[in-house]
Amino acid sequence: MVNIILFGPPGSGKGTQSEKLVSKFGLVHLSTGNLLRQEIADKTPLGLEAKNFIDKGQLVPDEVVIGMIDTCLEKHNEAKGFLFDGFPRTVAQAEALDKLLSLRKTAISKVLALDVSEEELVHRLLERGKTSGRTDDTDEGVIRRRFQVYRNETEPVASHYAKAHKLEHIKGEGSVDDIFEALSGRITPFFLAKVED
Ligand code: ADP
Repeated sequence: MVNIILFGPPGSGKGTQSEKLVSKFGLVHLSTGNLLRQEIADKTPLGLEAKNFIDKGQLVPDEVVIGMIDTCLEKHNEAKGFLFDGFPRTVAQAEALDKLLSLRKTAISKVLALDVSEEELVHRLLERGKTSGRTDDTDEGVIRRRFQVYRNETEPVASHYAKAHKLEHIKGEGSVDDIFEALSGRITPFFLAKVED
């Protein structure tokens, strides 16, 4: 299996690039943000609980998102690989993911981190908030809180994978197509390696 984590702060373009990457490589897209928004739209108990955290710019508790990922991995046990988007967001989630994958005799192949300046991120999120209907994108205070949470809780996930020599940084500013080419170039070798086996 080829398992990729697309990593980066809120607004770095993970969602946009994930859609293009999963269609190119045939991976299953696992976005915890999308899964949580679906739960909210369906008004499930999980969604109602998650909404309280999301609207404040806080993270949803680890056990909730880890449970969702476990269910998805189980549901797609025939997949040729996964693209994780917005997950893991804490070191505890990364450790849980490593365990869930190793139980399935697989592992993370690569973590691709999109680098974008904070000024550009705030601008993009406020723009997105005008049309996305996402309540967490309209309030600059909530956006700043999400960056703070990102720095404190999510950035250590990059170090976790850097230690395993799996982290690579990609410039996340420029055209969508150029960024897509850069990301694709890092993923393609994993598929070539498989063919040669
Ligand atoms: P962003 O565009 O900010 O990266 P997402 O769409 O990935 O946002 O997620 C929106 C919100 O959902 C986050 O701010 C957070 O509250 C919650 N969330 C998403 N994924 C996770 C996760 N892995 N762990 C905890 N909370 C999460």
